[in-house]
Amino acid sequence: MFQELLTKLSAAQVQMVAVSKTNPPDRILALYELGQRAFGENRVQEMLDKYEALPKDIEWHQIGHLQTNKVRFIAPFVHLIHAVDSLRLLQEIDRQAAKNDRIIDCLLQFYIAAEETKFGFVMEEATDMLQSEAFKSITHVRICGVMGMASFTEDEEKVKLEFRSLKAIFDNLKRQYFADQTAFKEISMGMSGDWEMAVSEGSTMVRIGSLIFGSRV
Ligand SMILES: *Cc1c(COP(=O)(O)O)cnc(C)c1O
Repeated sequence: MFQELLTKLSAAQVQMVAVSKTNPPDRILALYELGQRAFGENRVQEMLDKYEALPKDIEWHQIGHLQTNKVRFIAPFVHLIHAVDSLRLLQEIDRQAAKNDRIIDCLLQFYIAAEETKFGFVMEEATDMLQSEAFKSITHVRICGVMGMASFTEDEEKVKLEFRSLKAIFDNLKRQYFADQTAFKEISMGMSGDWEMAVSEGSTMVRIGSLIFGSRV
């Protein structure tokens, strides 16, 4: 499944983040040996343990909701933080990145699903932030694009419209705020159940867990 998926995704020039949460290090290593380097985790402690145990050229993606008080633990090595959903979090990432003398790449998470439980900005909150002085004074974060999660539903039309709305948000932000920033190019959308739809709607990065690792216990 892994190779087949990778072939399809690379034909579409879409990057795969292998979502390894709950899977032990040896299963990560098996994919590592097939060439996979980008792995996604949603819990800080679990990412730390795996970072310690596994090869240092793995690119660790923080894909889940991140608490401000945990940023400092992953700041030394995290490759991309997908789920930035507040200015306060961004400011803490900036602070910790500066301490570690690095620039941390981040995506802005948008709320696109009709579900109470999903985190993320709505457009107005994001534009308020992007126009603020506080945002302009951030120096050690690079905003590389957007991330979103579609509703968990069988209704494909609904999922399609949600992905389409994230693509529109991306295009809008790119035009208004990031036109001259080549790094602003990622749309992280699509998981095991909806990655094909996400790719056809413009995803540049899919986060795939159960499809390649098997279902989580
Ligand atoms: C778990 C998770 C995924 C992967 O889910 P699968 O359905 O197993 O592919 C993707 N994104 C986020 C934010 C997740 O928490």
